[in-house]
Amino acid sequence: MERSGKKFGRGANVCRRCGRHQALIRKYGVYVCRQCFREIALDMGFEKYE
Ligand SMILES: [Zn+2]
Repeated sequence: MERSGKKFGRGANVCRRCGRHQALIRKYGVYVCRQCFREIALDMGFEKYE
């Protein structure tokens, strides 16, 4: 059994921006937490959810 490449037992679901794993959002191909997503969303023009 080899467990390489996984630092986190849950599949390494961490925010790509702050590196934390809390309330991660994987929509639109982004892996960020809610807080970071909000900033990114505003930056990308995702202010409106269709
Ligand atoms: Zn974050």
